[in-house]
Amino acid sequence: MFYSTNNPDLRVDLKEAVIRSLPADNGLYMPTDISPLPESFWENWRTMNFAELGFHIAKNFLQGSIPDQELRKIVTESINFDAPLIPLTDQSYILELFHGPTLAFKDFGARFMARLMSYLVKNDAHQDNPSKPLTILVATSGDTGGAVASAFHNVKNTKVIILYPKGGVSDLQEKQLTTLGDNISALEVEGSFDDCQHMVKTCLLNTELTKKHNLTSANSINISRLLPQAFYYFHAARQLLDIHENALPTFVIPSGNFGNLTAGLIAQQMGLPIRHIVAATNINDVIPRYLADGSYKPNTSIPTISNAMDVGAPSNFARMKDIFGNDWNTMRENISGLAFDDQETKDAIKAVKHIHEYTIDPHGAVAWLAAQIWHEADPDAHTIILGTAHPSKFIATMENQLGKDSIHIPERLACLAQLEKLSKLVKPNPQELIDYLEQ
Ligand SMILES: *Cc1c(COP(=O)(O)O)cnc(C)c1O
Repeated sequence: MFYSTNNPDLRVDLKEAVIRSLPADNGLYMPTDISPLPESFWENWRTMNFAELGFHIAKNFLQGSIPDQELRKIVTESINFDAPLIPLTDQSYILELFHGPTLAFKDFGARFMARLMSYLVKNDAHQDNPSKPLTILVATSGDTGGAVASAFHNVKNTKVIILYPKGGVSDLQEKQLTTLGDNISALEVEGSFDDCQHMVKTCLLNTELTKKHNLTSANSINISRLLPQAFYYFHAARQLLDIHENALPTFVIPSGNFGNLTAGLIAQQMGLPIRHIVAATNINDVIPRYLADGSYKPNTSIPTISNAMDVGAPSNFARMKDIFGNDWNTMRENISGLAFDDQETKDAIKAVKHIHEYTIDPHGAVAWLAAQIWHEADPDAHTIILGTAHPSKFIATMENQLGKDSIHIPERLACLAQLEKLSKLVKPNPQELIDYLEQ
């Protein structure tokens, strides 16, 4: 069962929490209890393959809501790429989370959510609307849409409609949104990202329309996106143990909405020993400031070169507080916060290349800066930086620091350039989306 962070008495089942994403009271869903993994898990966890490790963690978290055989299939199809631990030094590592189809860690959450949603609606066919798939509406300003589109591509019982602002996404991002076809379609909106979001919200608030077309959103704060992110904390910890028997990881997490960090807290609650957590941000530093002085002051976000972390009001803060029983001191004992500006980030990209011969993306560079400071505070720490995206996703920023043609573009990104864009141009008006649904 799940409850809302705004009301512990509001209880819903897995299906409600995943398909609806957000409780009506504007809180966030949390599991009623996160049980420690059983003894039998710890006997075998270091030798299981990654998907099998994920299956056991998911099974423990979902507490029998899904039959084992189905759950194993969902996890295995979601986690079909590795997360290797790469050494920078003997005490400092990068966990590369960008070997999925869209080269960012968001593939973990999105792929698992897609398959779980498909499973949860599988038996709905004879209810309100026979033969209607679940229709996921997504407004995107770039990256999230790509990960969601790829995650749902050819997933049974689902259909995705992506809205993006004309001229508001990069060429490669547009190709990620518009070339998949099959159950994925794209609307190019002659307006802004806010117009796209308004169109989606208008449709989702229309109860009749929502019922008729089985509408939902693939919100980034969906609880099902956090669970698969817990898997790689275990996977990182055991890779570190293979190198240093007895070493406990200090995770350094480049953070924006703090979903990734919350997944680490969930892993910890399930019994994973973690030495410390360092939250690294760019100048959008609401949480580091909260950790320093206990006052939470959300802001409007400020644009930076680590733009996936440009968040002024991190949505998972409610979950973090909930996990620590709303106690600032307990949160501070477990998490430290450090923030860096763009100039420091640019210098870090160059420094990591120079010192370690490693190409780190702008988000990872922010975390690397935090790790340097942390090693001074705790000289015995073994830091693991979460590498959240492949550097080729930020080619302009990277080439500015490291020079032209310094960045290798993986084949699965490069080949998109040749594919034909399939999208429909629409006016920034909710009626256009309604007409598209009804046609
Ligand atoms: C989304 C994202 C982040 C921030 O993750 P949160 O879970 O929102 O804290 C960091 N780096 C990259 C590359 C991202 O796409």
